[in-house]
Amino acid sequence: MADKLKNDGVHPMTQLRILAPMQIAVPILTLAYFIFVDFNLALFLGAMLLGYLWAAFGTVVGYHRIFCHKLVKVNNFWKILFNIGGSISQHLSSTVYSMSHTQHHMFTDTPKDPHSPRYRGLKAVLYYDHAHVMDKHTLTPREKLKTMVAHKDLMKDPIHQWFGKYYLYVIATYVAICAGIGAMFGHPMCGIVYGYFITFCYTHVLAQPLIILNHLDWMKGVRPYKNNFASNKYLGWPLIFLEHNHADHHQYPDGRDWTGRMIKRIFA
Ligand SMILES: [Zn+2]
Ligand SMILES: [Zn+2]
Repeated sequence: MADKLKNDGVHPMTQLRILAPMQIAVPILTLAYFIFVDFNLALFLGAMLLGYLWAAFGTVVGYHRIFCHKLVKVNNFWKILFNIGGSISQHLSSTVYSMSHTQHHMFTDTPKDPHSPRYRGLKAVLYYDHAHVMDKHTLTPREKLKTMVAHKDLMKDPIHQWFGKYYLYVIATYVAICAGIGAMFGHPMCGIVYGYFITFCYTHVLAQPLIILNHLDWMKGVRPYKNNFASNKYLGWPLIFLEHNHADHHQYPDGRDWTGRMIKRIFA
């Protein structure tokens, strides 16, 4: 499937493999900054809020519900903004994210699920393992085709194509802006840590691994998913906008749930 993604400038496996070392390096660098340079509680809390907002806007609403599940067709203005937000919070192109997430919905809690703790243990929270699942020819050619066909609208769209090629530059520009804001106060590194590192850690070290652990609730294999089955068990849901609804979402990925209806109403 990866080879046919010619419009994505960065190979899907590379996209996933870039994330894995970052999941380890960025938190270490952040901690080192706090210990050896400075820790400011007010800035830290502000940065956590920023991380939450990037994840809510870019990942949950943009990449997940609108680009992957296609709850609503958005105009170019929103398409660009969601691509910027999604690049910064998700560190994947919209197409690669959508294909990986489609695989997750198709094969939840089976060996083909890119992040099933049931089959992949704690490794499921590391993006290296997502790459492993997608890379090891786990899917049949027909299943691979299905994940691609599901997102041919993204693959053909010039805006998604542009971000697929240049999303790393979008992230680099964001980091430069953070450094610039920090530099205005004499501390460019401070801008990078609080504006970018914390946002990265928020999604890829804190919230995303917790949402994947959420699937542990389903290890006993309840099929079909029952409404609110996970809602009262996933203690980490406040970290991710609308995520209290994860089991409902698996039952109604087309957006019949109330959050889906809300997104449709706002962005239609
Ligand atoms: Zn899920
Ligand atoms: Zn989904």
